[in-house]
Amino acid sequence: MARILIVEDEPRIASFVAKGLRADGHVATVAADGHAGLDEALSGNHDLVVLDIGLPGIDGYEVLEKLRAQGSAVPVIVLTARDSVTDTVSALEGGADDYVPKPFRFAELLARIRLRLRSPGGADPGSRDGALAAGGVHLDLRTRRATVDGRQVDLSAREFALAEIFMLNAGQVLSREQLLDQVWGFDFDPGSNVVDVYVGYLRRKFGSPTIETVRGMGYRFSL
Ligand code: CA
Repeated sequence: MARILIVEDEPRIASFVAKGLRADGHVATVAADGHAGLDEALSGNHDLVVLDIGLPGIDGYEVLEKLRAQGSAVPVIVLTARDSVTDTVSALEGGADDYVPKPFRFAELLARIRLRLRSPGGADPGSRDGALAAGGVHLDLRTRRATVDGRQVDLSAREFALAEIFMLNAGQVLSREQLLDQVWGFDFDPGSNVVDVYVGYLRRKFGSPTIETVRGMGYRFSL
């Protein structure tokens, strides 16, 4: 059971999401505009926030920015129109943990929410112990910390998951589809460039030689 805040101004979507979450055993609260959503999100009463971008008052980007500026680390999943996915992916660096393009099936959103709720420090019964190391990068799978040549780097949960897949398969070519499937966890829009965007983030954090582009095939973590 988790307490989930839905910030969404379209009553039909808000109620469909709230009903689905309640049916899944969660407590769902709805805020219908940006100001109310921000206040509610800052209350500390929620384990996760589902945040629409197009909102009356202040939009979702501004809500997210203010939320992070106030030091809140609550996981946020952004709902976005499909045609603005690129903007949204850039905005993830501004503090969102994930996004779901509209229109979405409830099952997609629920899969993201579950993933988020059990990620950092969560009591995931399947969580693995130990560490991975390759190419100067060290991932501690228990503490979810990453270091590069001994220097700590901050990775989002998604970046960490991507790094983990690369390092588990170091030296092997992984296709975009494999990475999407393993890191994003379900049938993601195959036209999405989210893998390329996240590989770009990891290259910036790890140093560019660590992840090679294999033309026409995908990516490879170099040994
Ligand atoms: Ca809206």
